[in-house]
Amino acid sequence: MCGSDLRAPLRDGTTVTYANFDYAASAPALSAVAERVQSLLPFYASVHRGAGYASQVCTERYEGARDVVADFVGARADDVVVFTRNTTDALNLLASCVPGETVVLDIEHHANLLSWKRNGARVVESAGTVEETIQRIVAELCTRPAALLAVTGASNVTGEVLPIARLARIAHECGARILVDAAQLLPHRRVDIAELGVDYLAFSGHKLYAPFGAGALVGRADWLDAAEPYLAGGGATKNVEIDSVQWAAAPQRHEAGTPNVLGAVAIAAACEALAGFDAVAAQQHERELCDRLTAGLGAVDGVQVLRIWPDSPDSVGIVTFTVAGAEPREVATFLSDGYGIGVRDGRFCAHPLLSRLGHVEGAVRASLGLGSSGADVDRLIAAVAEFVRGRA
Ligand code: PLP
Repeated sequence: MCGSDLRAPLRDGTTVTYANFDYAASAPALSAVAERVQSLLPFYASVHRGAGYASQVCTERYEGARDVVADFVGARADDVVVFTRNTTDALNLLASCVPGETVVLDIEHHANLLSWKRNGARVVESAGTVEETIQRIVAELCTRPAALLAVTGASNVTGEVLPIARLARIAHECGARILVDAAQLLPHRRVDIAELGVDYLAFSGHKLYAPFGAGALVGRADWLDAAEPYLAGGGATKNVEIDSVQWAAAPQRHEAGTPNVLGAVAIAAACEALAGFDAVAAQQHERELCDRLTAGLGAVDGVQVLRIWPDSPDSVGIVTFTVAGAEPREVATFLSDGYGIGVRDGRFCAHPLLSRLGHVEGAVRASLGLGSSGADVDRLIAAVAEFVRGRA
């Protein structure tokens, strides 16, 4: 993994191996991804229509990247893969195509909350148990028709995961489609949208061990083909006259302008690398680290680990906590300056959820990834304990 030997400067002027607990924000690129990007640089050219060798190679790699992504997420044969800038862009793109209202939960990242506002987003409360939350979704979807249920695959605040296949069945029974915001889920779990019954999936390359600047929307073509292009411009058209335009079908319809070829190819490289890993072993390892971190932090005086539901069946490697009487930024700065530990603090672009959980002042988020180790987890627990002792 790139940057695995990174050293962080400490307050006392020394340096220490950086302990990354910020994977949920952006995950460092895998070495295989960096190598793939490097291998394409000599061919730097715009895709499509170019007859030159470099353009042919870039076109082939760019279009090939769609197939790799489709395969990685278990897309149906007639699904399309639209390359976007990131998850936010993918959600806004779908929002521009949805033929009706969208139902969302109040736990969502702002990207999956605000995107839908333009067509009317109906927000369901996540209070109580998971089952109570699901029943509220059923009531909302079945009493008033909606076009879409847009739900996170894993909470970016707590890592909690809802039963996606069940939600997909519920949405379909009520005549709606389902979108999963997989920005946090896909880096941790194998996802098969055909098997789960998911209609649309959105994700970001930079959280999936690929560089910044590319993401994807994968899913059913009909809404995408029926809508106005997300951006108007070159590449999205079949024929243009001064007074009229014939737009191309998706995915090109929504990819006007020169695309991020390197970003798409990098995402494909990440998908291939992740598909080659033992997903069960990786999940088991992450589970153990996450349990160790949750238990260790929970045992420190004044530390509270945040949960949305008392009965959530599953979660990915995210542990968000508060320290009684301390500002989240104070804790994060102490961990960085004193121990070379990188966490995130704030409200994680999920202000309504933080308010509902009673933490308008924010919290500290420690998130795990493929480079996380037991030693790093112990270092974080010890550092938080030291912070609390120092304040006693
Ligand atoms: N959805 C979730 C669950 C996220 O965690 C994030 C980013 O943190 C996003 C959407 C937005 O991702 P991006 O900033 O890559 O568009």
